[in-house]
Amino acid sequence: MEYQINGERLLQNLFTMAQFGQNEGGGIDRSLGSKADYDTREWIKSYWQDHLKVEPETDAIANLWAKHSGTEHRKPLVIGSHHDAVPDGGKYDGAMGVLIATEVLETIVEQGILLKHPLYAISFTGEEPNPYNLSTLGSKVISGRLRKEDLFSVHNRETGESLEDTIKRLGGDISSLENARIQPGELAGFLEVHNELGRHLEAQGLHLSGVSTITGIYREEIQVYGENNHAGTTMMPDRKDAFLALSDLAVGLNEIVGAYEDPDVVGTMGYVKVSPNEANIVPGSAVGIIDIRTCERKTISEIVKKLDDLTEKTEKGRRVKIKRQVLLDQPARIMDEDIINIVKENLAKLKEPENVMVSMAGHDASNMQLLTKAGMIFTRSVGGKGHCKEEFTEDADVIKAGQLALETILRMDEELP
Ligand SMILES: [Zn+2]
Repeated sequence: MEYQINGERLLQNLFTMAQFGQNEGGGIDRSLGSKADYDTREWIKSYWQDHLKVEPETDAIANLWAKHSGTEHRKPLVIGSHHDAVPDGGKYDGAMGVLIATEVLETIVEQGILLKHPLYAISFTGEEPNPYNLSTLGSKVISGRLRKEDLFSVHNRETGESLEDTIKRLGGDISSLENARIQPGELAGFLEVHNELGRHLEAQGLHLSGVSTITGIYREEIQVYGENNHAGTTMMPDRKDAFLALSDLAVGLNEIVGAYEDPDVVGTMGYVKVSPNEANIVPGSAVGIIDIRTCERKTISEIVKKLDDLTEKTEKGRRVKIKRQVLLDQPARIMDEDIINIVKENLAKLKEPENVMVSMAGHDASNMQLLTKAGMIFTRSVGGKGHCKEEFTEDADVIKAGQLALETILRMDEELP
């Protein structure tokens, strides 16, 4: 290896960043707009200023940028991830990708490596689900998936603060949101390193992987209308139990999806609300949200068709009315072939199997794919844990992922226009 990252420094930075928002149980509370979000940003900016010898920039949606210039007049390469976390989250999700981006840039600056392209490190705003009900906020704005009009009416459902005020506190400005927008073709490429958040790598005995595709995500809200009635006096055949009908769909979805026996096809009903939600009343109303993930559009259609049949059967059998509404139908995003190949060759160089896998979680990279050639690198999540404080990637894997990222950026600089 011609150039080496500083693994100890990377681990130290990971440890330092994990102090922001760490709660008593060891989990991390660093949601968009929180004090921990603010403090982390201050730390990142001052670290970049001291170590990367750049003046950090904050764009209109408060994404943080460190811009290192190249030797030729080229479009920039971008590397990064996000620094926010889910409530009681782990210290790797997002943070590791931001700190690997930082380490790659620091290595390049420190060792005087000359790049043809400018290289930008980014830490995205609000990637995780948050009290504003907006995820991958920063990358959605720069890729044009969210506009000013979409954001002015948004408020924090817990504190009531407007998103506009929150973004202002973080150094952005929603009224000039178009300034944050990047047009397709303005960048040369994007790379994100992330922990897998699943158990695929561990199950295969692998430590690192490239990513071929980021899964498509389909969500529906299912509303069931039955009849409230007395839990004691209503005879069993007379009931119109909305919760039971919704349960039939939850169990049915699990069976339909499970029948594929494909690790890259999953379905969940993770949100339910039953009303009146009383022990002595047959529930007259129930609402659930289902989430289906696969890379194949055809598979989504097949599953939805089977759910249609099941819905009809359930309406008859449970004597209820069911209304379904699509909330999200986001297609799979295919990562760039050239970057996948570079990652594979670098894996071989690092004596790792040349594995490429599907990401079953959404990431900022899927929005960046709308703008430029995008790629991702995954690290093994021990025990498959993600979005929880038990989230863990071994030190050796963090360091190796950092080295893989550096090698990949150097090759992207060589090979991409
Ligand atoms: Zn993440």
